[in-house]
Amino acid sequence: MRVAVFSTQPYDRKFLGEANQRLINAGGPRAGHELGFYESRLTAESVALAFGIPAVCVFVNDELDPLVLSMLSGGETKVVALRCAGFSNANVAEAERLGITIARVPAYSPHAVAEHTIGLMLALNRKLLNAHARIREGNSDLDGLLGFDLYGKTVGVIGTGRIGTIVTQILTGFGCQVLLNDVQRNPALANAGAKYVELGTLFAESDVITLHCPLTPETHHLINRESLAKAKPGVMLINTSRGGLINTAAAVEFLKTGQLGFLGLDVYEEESDIFFRGLSDYVIQDDTSLRLLTFPNVLVTRHQAFFTIESMRTIAETTLANLTAFERGEPLGANQVSVDMIR
Ligand code: NAD
Repeated sequence: MRVAVFSTQPYDRKFLGEANQRLINAGGPRAGHELGFYESRLTAESVALAFGIPAVCVFVNDELDPLVLSMLSGGETKVVALRCAGFSNANVAEAERLGITIARVPAYSPHAVAEHTIGLMLALNRKLLNAHARIREGNSDLDGLLGFDLYGKTVGVIGTGRIGTIVTQILTGFGCQVLLNDVQRNPALANAGAKYVELGTLFAESDVITLHCPLTPETHHLINRESLAKAKPGVMLINTSRGGLINTAAAVEFLKTGQLGFLGLDVYEEESDIFFRGLSDYVIQDDTSLRLLTFPNVLVTRHQAFFTIESMRTIAETTLANLTAFERGEPLGANQVSVDMIR
């Protein structure tokens, strides 16, 4: 099947190209797909690139709003394959109304995101970036690099699904006390030295808080002035989930007073304009994102927590398998996004 692949970077072309080649080598009738790669995000301006092409493949910041979907439908596109698990960028009801199937990769490597989360915690706590910068300048002074033992500290994990569960397991291995909060409990975790508590208790007692719940109307700005005021002074906050969970302006205010002691972000509220792009000659308009970068106790990565060899292979293989199943009229099962998932 012909596929217009949007928002592609060299690594997308590499992993999708290699997975497609494996399908072709494995043979069989109509093996593999005809992939056309575009750097551009899918938007109302770029959608014309997909006209007449039955399949479109997109990522987290591509736009699947009613306008883009109707233009896709008018251009004879029948299936959209997301190279990610989340589908908050897609108007699923409108896609269903137009008869466009949306497929996704429900799980690739929760370990990748969990391990990056712990990486942010350790790098912030032990000031690894500052230490490395000093050493490069021949400065071996330890003053200013003082950290704390994670052993014995209390860590609050909000969202105990696939990623939150692994984060909890790693942290209990470190000897942390883990406080959990979720709308659905995972009984296996409560037996592993962690306990479920109300959100208020988690904010009040945690030295570190890490976010692993999805972005929904209920969780939008879960971290705000009120919740930050309830937290322990100097608390560390980590977000590898979705940017909209944190009111960034409130986080900046609390960083200034020291109430928020450390902030580690892999995701950011306004990320669609600035992430996954080279911006060295671009004037960034978002002052809050730039203000964040001025704090010595803030560490930002640009939505790379998932980015491991294992994840990229799984994403590429599952995406192509979704397209093959669609082409053959086979059911997509849990890989098909439906309105029932958002009710
Ligand atoms: P998951 O669906 O397995 O788990 C999410 C958990 O959040 C579930 O247990 C759910 O019950 C819980 N939850 C829902 N609403 C909640 C609420 N109001 N309060 C507390 N908990 C609530 O998802 P996952 O695979 O563990 O992914 C977690 C998040 O990580 C997702 O939002 C996803 O967007 C994000 N993610 C980020 C990256 C990255 O590269 N940074 C990669 C993959 C996933």
